[in-house]
Amino acid sequence: MSEYTPIFFIKSIMSDKILITFPDGNSKEFDKGISAFRIAESISPGLAEAALAAEVNGFVKDLESPINSDSVINFLKFDDEKGKEVYWHSTSHLMAHAIQEIYPEAKFGVGPAIENGFYYDIDINTGLTEESLKAIEDKMIELSKKNNSFIRQDLSKDSAVKFFENKGDNYKVEILSGINENSEQVSIYKEGDFTDLCRGPHLPSTGKIKFIKLLNISGSYWRGDENNKQLQRIYGISFPKKKMLDEFLQRLEEAKKRDHRKLGKELELFLITQAVGSGLPIWLPKGTILRETLENYLREEQRKRGYEPVITPHIGNINLYKTSGHYPYYKDSQFPPIKLEGDKEEYLLKPMNCPHHFQIYLSKPRSYRDLPIRYAEFGTVYRYEQSGELNGLTRVRSFSVDDSHMFVREDQLKDEVCKVIELIQVVFGQMGFKEFTTQLSFRDNNAEKYGGDIKLWERAQREIREAADLMKLTYHVAEGEAAFYGPKIDFMVKDALGRKWQLGTVQIDYIMPERFNLEYTGSDGQKHRPVVIHRAPFGSLERFIGVLIEHYAGEFPLWLAPVQVAVIPVSQNFAEYGKDVFNKLKDAGIRAEFDERNEKIGYKIRDWETKKVKYMVIVGEKEQSAGNISVRKHKLGDMGSLSLSEFIDNIHDEIKNKI
Ligand SMILES: [Zn+2]
Ligand SMILES: [Zn+2]
Repeated sequence: MSEYTPIFFIKSIMSDKILITFPDGNSKEFDKGISAFRIAESISPGLAEAALAAEVNGFVKDLESPINSDSVINFLKFDDEKGKEVYWHSTSHLMAHAIQEIYPEAKFGVGPAIENGFYYDIDINTGLTEESLKAIEDKMIELSKKNNSFIRQDLSKDSAVKFFENKGDNYKVEILSGINENSEQVSIYKEGDFTDLCRGPHLPSTGKIKFIKLLNISGSYWRGDENNKQLQRIYGISFPKKKMLDEFLQRLEEAKKRDHRKLGKELELFLITQAVGSGLPIWLPKGTILRETLENYLREEQRKRGYEPVITPHIGNINLYKTSGHYPYYKDSQFPPIKLEGDKEEYLLKPMNCPHHFQIYLSKPRSYRDLPIRYAEFGTVYRYEQSGELNGLTRVRSFSVDDSHMFVREDQLKDEVCKVIELIQVVFGQMGFKEFTTQLSFRDNNAEKYGGDIKLWERAQREIREAADLMKLTYHVAEGEAAFYGPKIDFMVKDALGRKWQLGTVQIDYIMPERFNLEYTGSDGQKHRPVVIHRAPFGSLERFIGVLIEHYAGEFPLWLAPVQVAVIPVSQNFAEYGKDVFNKLKDAGIRAEFDERNEKIGYKIRDWETKKVKYMVIVGEKEQSAGNISVRKHKLGDMGSLSLSEFIDNIHDEIKNKI
């Protein structure tokens, strides 16, 4: 210890100063008890204006809360996820305030920030309409202009209960009664005439909330329990700049236009009907073409990489799933077992394909020379999702996984993971997902959460990271996110609207080989365990196609398009010539449709435009006598005339090059 240590020690205890460290590593001394806002102000007026809250030693705090010890501080602005959260949550208070002004009888449930905006659950005597939302919005703007400060008050739980009892806010009283007995102190926040029970943090004042849009209303049972009263949930969003709100609303419009449930119907891709059951999609002929084209594409890519296709049944003996641990562990998300009279066995609609593929591996002895073995199947699995969770193709009860199980030796793991990453990169690139990020989900120190040997895990995690580096992935490591059976890599793609979707996955598994006693004979003549890799570039085909429909807005590239060309005669007089052209296109393997309808040509062209068909072939007097065709391209219009054989060559090129 240096001779100065005692002096420094005394100074830091006695001192009225604290040391504040900034994200860039610089630090500066301030008076003890200073607020984050004053610190921001001392740096620059611009920062004080833009800061919405402060992250102090990792905790998000009000800008006004005093800082009493040495701290690391990061100012949160609207650009930061956590800054947005504070902004939107504070707007939910402002909305509740406006509602209290308009509907004095209002009682309030909860009002959190969500991914895009916020909501508040409210109990009022009036059914809300579009007009009432507008009135609330106007009131919010009026209140935001008053620029009331959000003032925090800490008080005892008992005083808080009394306060909300007096106010008649029985939902808040109920929330308070559920708060842990040990936490005697709670906090309330007051902004103008409105006070809410809340942990915070909030914006310094309401004036920061500039542009507001209330988006919709839905019903919501108090605490999600349908035995409770149904409250009205109002969703909204807010921004500090008008341009941001305009852009958001524009994206929302665009997303509505691209909604795969809407386009799926218009383009006749799939059907979900109560007659069959919720969450059980049916592929219509056009959707089946799309799906099979994707499957064939992946089949071919897999064939080139040494995968072997297999097919397994849709149900399996329940014992398979008892061995794997899927039953009863995931019992709540499965359809109940099937038991037939006179049959001793019970069956399960398969929730996973893995155990079936393990049986194939087990069907004969394996040597180290046989590995890696890669079985691939578009295997349909069944999950019993809650009906409230179902959504178009993205949340369903029956879906097909582009599944593969690979059985590899320890020394092959890294190389095999690299190959899988390469395949996923090729597939995403082909689908036009230019941007994607990757999460490496690793274990944490909680040993009880994971099975298998720690040394194997460490090696696998090191090799996954090396593989990710070798393949130049943009990734982050999420500790504690691994599955209990091994580490995994999850792929998030950004679609054309910039929305993120979790699609492909690669999972390393040390547990299933144990449970199913998978073995191979090593070069040493001894028995060894292979490692299993579960992987699926698309993930679920249903979900993938749902995302793809929205990504392309239904305007698929030609190789995927269910209808590639529509042949339209100008009138009935040219139907025969048109039919001849249509047949030649079909013979050339092009997916063409012939429009024989007795409608005006203008009407037919508009109709095929809305069906988003890329090419229309128009034939009339001029084309018939010249023996050629005229071509129109979706959104671009007339492309002039050319010979049919030239057109067929162009189409073939476009399909072959998948553009
Ligand atoms: Zn709050
Ligand atoms: Zn699997």
